[in-house]
Amino acid sequence: MRVFEELINQERIISILVEAITASKDNENSTQGMTHAWLFTGPPGSGRSNAALAFAAGLVCKNNGCNECTDCKTAIKGSHADVELIATEGLSIKIGEIRELITRASWSPSVGNYRVVVIEDADRLTESAASALLKAIEEPGLRTVWLLCAPSTTDVLPTIRSRTRSLVLRTPSTSAVAALLERENISPKMAEFAARASQGHIGRARYLALNGVARSRREAILKISLLITDVASAFKAAQVLVEAAKTEAEEDAEKRDGVELASLKEAWGQQGSKLTQGGSKAVKELEKEQKSRTTRMVRDYLDRALLDIATLYRDILLVQSNSHDSIINGDLLGEITELASKTTPEATLRKLESIMSARNNLSHNAAPLLTIEALMVSLK
Ligand SMILES: [Zn+2]
Repeated sequence: MRVFEELINQERIISILVEAITASKDNENSTQGMTHAWLFTGPPGSGRSNAALAFAAGLVCKNNGCNECTDCKTAIKGSHADVELIATEGLSIKIGEIRELITRASWSPSVGNYRVVVIEDADRLTESAASALLKAIEEPGLRTVWLLCAPSTTDVLPTIRSRTRSLVLRTPSTSAVAALLERENISPKMAEFAARASQGHIGRARYLALNGVARSRREAILKISLLITDVASAFKAAQVLVEAAKTEAEEDAEKRDGVELASLKEAWGQQGSKLTQGGSKAVKELEKEQKSRTTRMVRDYLDRALLDIATLYRDILLVQSNSHDSIINGDLLGEITELASKTTPEATLRKLESIMSARNNLSHNAAPLLTIEALMVSLK
């Protein structure tokens, strides 16, 4: 099925989905292979929501996921009348949203056999939203299919997990990501660099390959960490990194927050500076949501920066074990070789571990500046 062409290195998952789509169209034998609730998990960038949307397209397409008809094209974008894509930029998906969704999901499909709901960040459902969703999954409509996506199976309630069929995507190989980018007319050299630098994260690889600013930002981050020699420079590096993360998140927030606020006020029929009581409550809620989104963006930025810094130490380790073949940051080879000669592979491994544990701490809401400071000191 051509609809799965973009899904690289996931042959096992694709064969399960193809079987389900085929079974769903076979009226005699409709229960084999097809079920109404699925859970797509896999590391960031492995393509879990792309897999879910391609599956949705296959279910609503009349030609078995041809990837060419209007049904396929609109389903993949999440704009098909029978495919609903729930993507959130905030920290959580609330119960109100899920209740409305459940009502819409129960309508009969307008063109095809199914109404498909794709929830991109099922790990961000609040507890009450998750319980509401569980009820809907436990008593499914015959024509509704739920596709949930999350980083790992432990990110969703066990009760939801047990009601879904689980599919675990793997991180695609560097060469597979590079080949995909080359198909998109990116030069082989750039494709190879971006695939390595992003370590199998397809979206990040594409972004790096196409965006000069992103590449220079990445280079600046690596140079900062190369300059750490003592405690003072470690603290300085941490400060620069966290400030850069905040600036980027705030610039982005400024662009979006104002527009969102204006359209919300308009929706509540603001006249002059007066808003109805319901309107002011909605504005307060939006402002809270926007603040939490900015906080999350700072953490996301820092996480990306730490992944980039990790590639530097991965390279140092490669040089220390006399293997130059798959070096990611070839342009910094001089600095990398020098650092490699000054330390041991054991010390480099310890630094890589510190980077990973700092990422873990950040994902559990540790204070950004303190976390990065502690990390930078351990990298000196
Ligand atoms: Zn099609």
